[in-house]
Amino acid sequence: MKFLVVGGAGYIGSHMVKHLIAAGHEVVVADLVAPAPGVQWAKLDIADEAALDVLFGVCRFDAVFHFASFIQVGESVSAPGKYYQNNVAATLSLLQAMVNAGIKHLVFSSSAAVYGNPLYIPIDEAHAKGPINPYGLSKWMVEQILEDFDRAYGLKSVCLRYFNAAGADPEGQLGERHEPETHLIPLILQAAAGRREAVTVFGRDYDTPDGTCIRDYIHVADLATAHALAVDYLLAGGERTAFNLGNGHGFSVQQVIDIARAVTGRQIHVLDAPRRAGDPPRLVADAGKALSVLSWRPEFVSLEQIVRHAWHWELQYPWTTRQG
Ligand code: UDP
Repeated sequence: MKFLVVGGAGYIGSHMVKHLIAAGHEVVVADLVAPAPGVQWAKLDIADEAALDVLFGVCRFDAVFHFASFIQVGESVSAPGKYYQNNVAATLSLLQAMVNAGIKHLVFSSSAAVYGNPLYIPIDEAHAKGPINPYGLSKWMVEQILEDFDRAYGLKSVCLRYFNAAGADPEGQLGERHEPETHLIPLILQAAAGRREAVTVFGRDYDTPDGTCIRDYIHVADLATAHALAVDYLLAGGERTAFNLGNGHGFSVQQVIDIARAVTGRQIHVLDAPRRAGDPPRLVADAGKALSVLSWRPEFVSLEQIVRHAWHWELQYPWTTRQG
């Protein structure tokens, strides 16, 4: 098969590209940043529909994976226009170019943020949608646009609602590096590696056993497997749908720090700070639908293993600058 991976130079997209190439598929990455060496690269902005028309005129893709989006919740509150422009308007231009070219299959990176503050745990796909920030709303808007594009043009999509993507390539070639970094596990490991003074815990007064927020961490390699199963589902004639992707186990911020101390054997200094705006106390997935419909079986379910892979990546990352 021949696939376009939009955002294939990023954290989750790069793991997807590796997975697809290992499975024998032909892959082109559309990104403004260069993908891994040797990967075919179309350097373009998906907001540029004309550039996409040219690409789709040259390459006949069986499906598109769309990973490219801005992901910082706090920034989405202070700069909503940036999020609606990139995550919604640019996606719309991608969808229109797909319609122009007759490409009928899309796997879209959505988020647990579409649910907002959960009404019950674990969260299944039927849970009410109520995003509490522009980031989550941008994902939910695209999901709704996809419903209309299915009805109007027969464009079939699977929306994958990630919980907390974490970990790194088990073979150590790829990992997480955002600029600036805002995610808990890389920040903890940068503190363990001495690249930061400390990690800050945002709130110890939540209604959870130790007072810190609980999240469901899912290994990035297991996310890649789920995407591959999702595209198989679509190519086999599956209807438009959405799946939660998580392990179904919640870990508190304090538990993640404790596990990282055990895995790294390093001191990790912790500072306490007030709650971060927009953080629900507890997010845990019911991923039963992906397990039954896609036969998805996450492989790296222990948080120790997820942190160990991330730590391996952190240690070999060729970057000595002290951060924060
Ligand atoms: N968190 C924290 N300190 C940090 C970064 C994150 O305490 O420096 C907490 C955050 O409040 C949330 C959890 O860790 O409860 C996971 O946050 P992250 O930004 O990694 O992912 P999110 O859940 O926002 O997608």
